[in-house]
Amino acid sequence: EHDIHVIGGGLAGSEAAWQLAEAGWRVRLSEMRGGGDTTPAHHGVSLAELVCSNSFRSDDAESNAVGLLHQEMRALGSLILREGDSHRVPAGSALAMDRDGFSAGVTAALEAHPNVTIVRERVDTLPDTPAIIATGPLTAPGLSERIAGETGRDALAFFDAIAPIVHRDSIDLDTAWFQSRWNKGDGTDYINCPLDKDQYHAFVDGLLAGEKTEYREWENVPYFEGCMPIEVMAERGRETLRFGPMKGVGLDDPRTGRWPYAAVQLRQDNAHGTLWNIVGFQTKLKHAEQVRLFRTIPGLEKAEFARLGGLHRNTFIRSPELLDPQLRLRSRPNLRFAGQITGCEGYVESAAIGLLAGRFAAAELRGAAMAAPPVETALGALLGHITGGAEAESYQPMNVNFGLFPPIPGRTKKADRKKLYTDRARAALAAWMAA
Ligand code: FAD
Repeated sequence: EHDIHVIGGGLAGSEAAWQLAEAGWRVRLSEMRGGGDTTPAHHGVSLAELVCSNSFRSDDAESNAVGLLHQEMRALGSLILREGDSHRVPAGSALAMDRDGFSAGVTAALEAHPNVTIVRERVDTLPDTPAIIATGPLTAPGLSERIAGETGRDALAFFDAIAPIVHRDSIDLDTAWFQSRWNKGDGTDYINCPLDKDQYHAFVDGLLAGEKTEYREWENVPYFEGCMPIEVMAERGRETLRFGPMKGVGLDDPRTGRWPYAAVQLRQDNAHGTLWNIVGFQTKLKHAEQVRLFRTIPGLEKAEFARLGGLHRNTFIRSPELLDPQLRLRSRPNLRFAGQITGCEGYVESAAIGLLAGRFAAAELRGAAMAAPPVETALGALLGHITGGAEAESYQPMNVNFGLFPPIPGRTKKADRKKLYTDRARAALAAWMAA
């Protein structure tokens, strides 16, 4: 007997189950590990296993968006943060933990909870009763087939081919300029960065020499149309990029009145206009290498990256069009989605969306509706990105960052801005919790 079924006992599912159980609802938590199945990334059978690093990143709630998210989750009784805090290891201003102690702590808390029944089973169908699907980036194939059947194949991604995303206010608009190629469309659709011949060839050399991320065999994915990494394009010929994503034709550099030899284009990535992606620049270059090389592009010398490029296996749905603001599947509202499968990225973000899904579901079981957290909070900003802020077509997973928050109105000094964001968030969270 249970009131709600949570599928997947990872970071998101464990948190969702905890929130529901604490609110008094009986949860069936299905986890396939320990029942004869596993994923290509997990090693053990504990709930909330950390598949790679043992860090929840910065714990600084004054000037860092993920640190702020920690603080908000603690305020809402997060199990993942509670266990993270109690298994903390020294890591400067980061929250890092003993990975085995952490996962064991989460598992023990859920096993001991009278409202939680953990079942070690793989789920291959979509339930007809209230459920939260939190099966993560490596969702078992049977279930992902069912999800694709429900959402349409186009709306379920199996791979992440990510182009880097840049904070708009770090782009030098004395060098770069707004224009659409051939002046088609709105004049503010693209930001263009010009490269001369020497700069272009130095950039190609950098791509060819740059250190690439090695992929495990299971990640060895065939490249497909539109998703080829730029370094692979560069390997096919020195001019390939100049006739591909780095075309200069149809772009009039206002400083010369001519088309540049080559160009890099950025396109708006979120509704606020604070984040811009580098068009066609998916890459497997190591992150430090990307930062170094992309800052050689004129106009991007001081670029700050909201996320860097990558290509890896990642199952996620096109949430902005598929989910309602309460994380329910529009076509089947008894189903909520949570965690990385919704298109957030990271342990903390996945757990945060699990927390919200659990609380939304608990309110609904009670016959009430919970107001979403305000967009000024980290929880609200992340939820807003997933359920509506991003362009559905180009939707890509993202970590929480200040670019997802509504901009601070008026002119502010850059040095003060982070504190303004976090102070505003704390006030908004307090008002929301009081209501
Ligand atoms: P998971 O934690 O993966 O949980 C999903 C759970 O569902 C798993 O336990 C799985 O066994 C289970 N499951 C799947 N299908 C079924 C099914 N059909 N029936 C029952 N159970 C099922 N993020 C970071 O912040 N830092 C990192 O260093 C990091 N490294 C990563 C490395 C890799 C290789 C991958 C793939 C991701 C990494 N991430 C990292 C991203 C992400 O934060 C984690 O994957 C995170 O665990 C996602 O949380 P989740 O709850 O959505 O999914």
